[in-house]
Amino acid sequence: MTAHDLPAWLPLSVAVWLVQMVAYHGFGLWFEWLDRTGRLSTYKVRPVDRWTYAQVLPRVLFNQVFLLLPAMMLAQWAGLAYVGADHLSPLMFILGMLGMTIGHDLVQYFSHAWILHRPELMRTLGHSVHHSTTASRSISACFMSPMDFLMEIVAPYLIPLMLVGGGGADLLFHFFTVSAGAFGGIYEHSGYDFSVKLAQGGPVARFVASRISSKAHAEHHSRGNVSYSDGFGSSNICDTVFKTRWDLVKPRERRRNSQEA
Ligand SMILES: [Zn+2]
Ligand SMILES: [Zn+2]
Repeated sequence: MTAHDLPAWLPLSVAVWLVQMVAYHGFGLWFEWLDRTGRLSTYKVRPVDRWTYAQVLPRVLFNQVFLLLPAMMLAQWAGLAYVGADHLSPLMFILGMLGMTIGHDLVQYFSHAWILHRPELMRTLGHSVHHSTTASRSISACFMSPMDFLMEIVAPYLIPLMLVGGGGADLLFHFFTVSAGAFGGIYEHSGYDFSVKLAQGGPVARFVASRISSKAHAEHHSRGNVSYSDGFGSSNICDTVFKTRWDLVKPRERRRNSQEA
């Protein structure tokens, strides 16, 4: 199947958005089901958020329907994404993925760490809304003020996508990037950490554990001044370069505290 097989009334940007919605809300509901049934409770490392699923959902849907969808349609209308070849060459596919991962981290870090977290802008731009959650209710990943959502979700996705050439009309490329992104956001806000058992194993197991841990973003929610990159699935380049990664900030604080003591 290619983009040309889509019905005429369904632009590719809308089809990609629909896949993103199925992935986001599918994974979100799965984690919600885990919360309610107590399954996999050994991996639930944080108490469930005081915000309920029903309280969080309307704001999430508003952002996705009235901000993300029009932005994606606009990008296609302007010819900046979702247009072109049905299949990217293998090289362009890989370079595109790489560019999206790195670009996402750059744009998201810039917005999040340097603008949204500025004390004088925290309430004005409404990032405080997202920080009223504790990263322990899957779909709270997109529980944000409109400005926050545009800067942390829409821009870090669409700007790199346009810069790598818009992904052509390659269904696999688009469906994979949005589904992976949706899972990453949902997982790191779920309160589950699937690395806890591996983290007690040998060096290889611990390496895998560090790759699949959801701790970084949880630390961001609890401490506020660490790990601004999207934790799971992100390259975390900026947090490493600017030394804001949660495991790099800890010793500094300890040292300062011991000096104060
Ligand atoms: Zn934040
Ligand atoms: Zn968050």
